[in-house]
Amino acid sequence: MNAVASGPARHDAALAVRDLVKVYGSGETAKKALKGISLEVPRGSFFGLLGPNGAGKSTLINILAGLARKTSGQAAIWGYDIDSDTRLARAAIGVVPQELNLDPFFTPREALEFQAGLYGVPRRERRTEEILAAVGLLDKADAYARTLSGGMRRRLLVAKALVHAPPVLVLDEPTAGVDIELRQQLWSYVRQLNEAGTTVVLTTHYLEEAEALCDRIAIINHGEVVAADTTPVLLKRLDRKDVILTLGADLAAVPAAFAALQAELLGPRQLKLQYRPSRTPFADVLNCIQGAGLEILDLSTQEADLEDLFLELTRKRT
Ligand code: ADP
Ligand code: MG
Repeated sequence: MNAVASGPARHDAALAVRDLVKVYGSGETAKKALKGISLEVPRGSFFGLLGPNGAGKSTLINILAGLARKTSGQAAIWGYDIDSDTRLARAAIGVVPQELNLDPFFTPREALEFQAGLYGVPRRERRTEEILAAVGLLDKADAYARTLSGGMRRRLLVAKALVHAPPVLVLDEPTAGVDIELRQQLWSYVRQLNEAGTTVVLTTHYLEEAEALCDRIAIINHGEVVAADTTPVLLKRLDRKDVILTLGADLAAVPAAFAALQAELLGPRQLKLQYRPSRTPFADVLNCIQGAGLEILDLSTQEADLEDLFLELTRKRT
């Protein structure tokens, strides 16, 4: 009876990771890349894994993909433990690795057929044409991989991850070095997959991208989870709004009326106010501004975004 201490992983999650530790190397050069990560990715979600370079994102994904070995802890994919149900766990996930690792002498069609063979997909069940069309590579189906552009190679990697129709698709920095148009194309396709039921996990440091696409976000830094929640809740956590006033006349100092709003002069005619939407209704802020009797030429507000949160959380732990 030794299973009591750790307990079973949740079986209804797409990914369930518990106390995952990864140490690269040993002795003096040992590097603890994951310091006990626990995470759950709900089925059907579009999940963003964010963190600065070196945070441990690829390490986590490579362990799930079977490309790296964990030091300790547990991980389950679609309810299958990666140690005891390795084959089923492997079959449930498709990973698009960060590194472009394509055989230059394979054509996209051959690459997909080869991958399907690796996963034991029977010929009649293969969807090579359909997948190539979906990623916009049908007209390059028989061109050598080495003749494809960077964006096309990236899309071929996505196609390869899809041949065994995995319920979980993981993309590790898929848009690094991909131009904007291709990025949009890639996202619209990945979105379709998600809408059709595929759980999508994405690592990126394009924060706007995560904010726009992901319904849940976890932020990791130095091998630790520093925040994990739904995107709107995560954004709300920052709970700060700025109001910028442009004034009609110079101010020498911050008017006393603004003491409660952490007022700050950005210039002689620009005043920044700060408030917490959860505590102070905007109407109160407006009343305060009107009560100060200043000539106001313009007013704008700025909401906290993921970038602020990210900086705040990753700074705190360094
Ligand atoms: P991320 O994908 O978030 O940028 P990585 O998982 O690639 O982070 O790296 C996490 C840490 O582990 C970094 O400090 C990195 O240098 C180290 N690391 C990654 N891969 C190896 C490896 N094969 N050998 C030794 N250290 C590694
Ligand atoms: Mg990485």
